[in-house]
Amino acid sequence: ENAQLKDIISHAKEYGFVYPSSEIYDGLQAVYDYGAYGVELKNNLKRLWWETMTRVQDNIVGIDASIFMHPTTWKASGHIDSFNDPMIDNKDSKKRYRADVLVEEHAAVFERAGDIEKANALTGALARLLEAEDLAGVRDLITNEGIKCPISGTSNWTDVRQFNLMFSTQVGSVAEDSTTIYLRPETAQGIFVNFLNVQKTARMKVPFGIAQIGKAFRNEIVARQFIFRMREFEQMEMQFFVRPGTELEWYQNWADTRMKWHLALGIPAEKLRKHNHEKLAHYANAAMDIEFDFPFGFKEVEGIHSRTDFDLKSHQEFSRKKQQYFDPEVNQNYIPYVVETSIGADRLFLLTLCNAYTEEKTEEKSRTYLKLHPAIAPVKAAILPITKKDGLPEKGKEIVELLKYDFNIIYEDASSIGKRYARQDLIGTPFCIAVDHQTLEDNTVTIRHRDTTEQERVPISELHGRIAEATSF
Ligand code: ATP
Repeated sequence: ENAQLKDIISHAKEYGFVYPSSEIYDGLQAVYDYGAYGVELKNNLKRLWWETMTRVQDNIVGIDASIFMHPTTWKASGHIDSFNDPMIDNKDSKKRYRADVLVEEHAAVFERAGDIEKANALTGALARLLEAEDLAGVRDLITNEGIKCPISGTSNWTDVRQFNLMFSTQVGSVAEDSTTIYLRPETAQGIFVNFLNVQKTARMKVPFGIAQIGKAFRNEIVARQFIFRMREFEQMEMQFFVRPGTELEWYQNWADTRMKWHLALGIPAEKLRKHNHEKLAHYANAAMDIEFDFPFGFKEVEGIHSRTDFDLKSHQEFSRKKQQYFDPEVNQNYIPYVVETSIGADRLFLLTLCNAYTEEKTEEKSRTYLKLHPAIAPVKAAILPITKKDGLPEKGKEIVELLKYDFNIIYEDASSIGKRYARQDLIGTPFCIAVDHQTLEDNTVTIRHRDTTEQERVPISELHGRIAEATSF
């Protein structure tokens, strides 16, 4: 883990954003809990996604499907047969690695050293071997390249084996009638199996979309880089159902729309890029990732996939229930094609933290603050009476009453005003509102702005409007 990521991880813990799960028992690998400010930030991100995907769009509605689904779902979706990662163990350290990740990291070393040709040759060879499901070939590539285990430093490797990423559990109390079911590894299938329910009951016409936010579970082996890759995480997915033949146009359309969304949240254009998949999943005819420049390099945050009619067709086959739509415009029955946008709420959270984390050093002072878009900041304003005397706390609490029903507000009257400003900076509060003796005379307060640290005098009656304007998206 590099230094910047380390700083962000400790900041997240220290200031109430993210803690390791069950930390008193030394944590559980790749599982995390969100703290007081973390849950606010995460909820704000989810709400913003939900509003821009459903309320603002006139042809997308939401659902909330279960985590448990009929086991045949995963047969039909292909997850039982092919949701695998190729794994390899080092015989000396007994550590397990994703074979493809070992090769990619090895290639990245050449890329950083400027040997792009060698890097491309390696990733090309890997892609061809995986495509051909040649696991022995992947092992040979790792051995021939002399790729070493980072722990033992040896290249004493086992064979490469496929490892399914789905968690399973048992339903039913006695052995005879218990059934193996899976914790969903993606939320999308809950949308596909409800396609006709939603289409009929919400009276949707193709093209239309169904959006969902919910937990997903994957038994990730390479679980590193904090909340980038978790075993329990949240996805925000939208499946857009279109007339066959129009899917690639919609695919471009959604890729652009989603890119604009990230830019509108304040992510600089040079920190985002689109990455087209050369190797397509079994269900896709086009796929790209939106990547963000994390402290550990450009990595996927969101996938845009043209999934064809693979899922609906397969569910029709396995369930023997027609998954067709009658399109009155062309007077035809067909299985719609699907364009999907899929983003992890936790990965978006990490992107947001990395992008917001700012260390400012000038000759006089240094400060750390989170430069969050006010629309997603966990706390919108802090009300800070400059002393605990002379009726200032009472006045401050009156202001809290004016604002707290519409915004998440903090009230604090202990310690020096400078310390209180610094503390709000660390959690990304855009406005600090200082209440002083003049406030009692003329009902004005001082607003101190997080990013510029500039202060201005404002009537209390303007506060609500000011905050509402700044925090709208
Ligand atoms: P990766 O290649 O990083 O494993 P993926 O291609 O398997 O990701 P998808 O199946 O397309 O990912 O999932 C869509 C989105 O869900 C990803 O872009 C990511 O934001 C999120 N996501 C997937 N797996 C995880 C995970 N283990 N932890 C956190 N977020 C995840």
